[in-house]
Amino acid sequence: MLVMKCSKCSAEAIYYAKYNGLYLCRDHFNEMIEGRVKKEIRKQVEFHGDDVTISVALSGGKDSSVTLFLLHKILGNRKNMKIKAFTVDEGIDGYRPSGLESAKRLCTSLGIDHETISFYDSYGLTLDSIVKTNPVKIPCAYCGPLRRKLINEMADKQDADYVALGLNLDDYSQSILMNVAKGDFDRFIRMSPQTDRKVGLVRRIAPLRTILEKEVVLYAVTNDIPFDSSWCPYYSRAQRNVFREVVNKLSEENPSTKFAILKFFDRVRENITTGHEEVKLKRCKICGAPTERDVCTACSSLQEVNEMMA
Ligand code: SF4
Ligand code: ZN
Repeated sequence: MLVMKCSKCSAEAIYYAKYNGLYLCRDHFNEMIEGRVKKEIRKQVEFHGDDVTISVALSGGKDSSVTLFLLHKILGNRKNMKIKAFTVDEGIDGYRPSGLESAKRLCTSLGIDHETISFYDSYGLTLDSIVKTNPVKIPCAYCGPLRRKLINEMADKQDADYVALGLNLDDYSQSILMNVAKGDFDRFIRMSPQTDRKVGLVRRIAPLRTILEKEVVLYAVTNDIPFDSSWCPYYSRAQRNVFREVVNKLSEENPSTKFAILKFFDRVRENITTGHEEVKLKRCKICGAPTERDVCTACSSLQEVNEMMA
């Protein structure tokens, strides 16, 4: 078998980065990933000598586990820096329990405080029971807003200045195209990272936004980071699957497509946000959470399900 050498040293390569033509050994692969994540952290987090707390929304899957591991590795020894983690348990049988187990294991090994918040304790319903009540609607359409609300609540409870999400470059390029295809300009502009201060909303960061999904997996494996590799049983019904296929197809032709989509998004947002009128956040009439509407999407989803159950 032909063994390729690292483009930066004489060690054996474990990765070929098609988008820049580099073969990388384990050390140089880690160096590249960590360098890109450091750059994103510098862009997204303000350090002014004040105490900074970052809470990681840790599902136990590869992306959030690598996010926590890298934040701990890069910022863990910094003075005035506190890293915490929490898991949202949506109540998905056969999927979430193993993720939760992995999340706890990683936090114990890194010495990080970990808490759990569940749909059932917060809403009196599991995602499984919601899907049974309304089998027609795509499960992610309920799961997304209900989870986002608990992520904000939990980060707030942990006194976090920032909540870190494990979104990778594949997720980003798919979401950007999804919002374009739906013509949803407001959501496009509001995508994470959101580092402006808004009342009631913890600022969201995404340290892995320039790392490809396959690079996240390889980083987790080469660094022995425990993660849960099971798939959500509702995943096949997610709308983003079409966009995943499209973006992957485009990347076969041009390996830097995902980077190009992200770069395009950043440039548009940079130019637009200055002239774009900010939507004023109100408080949800039912739960008090920050929202653009009178009733937040989580509460209107719950109303919908409760009416169907009645
Ligand atoms: Fe929730 Fe959909 Fe993700 Fe499953 S695939 S965890 S239903 S958002
Ligand atoms: Zn609400």
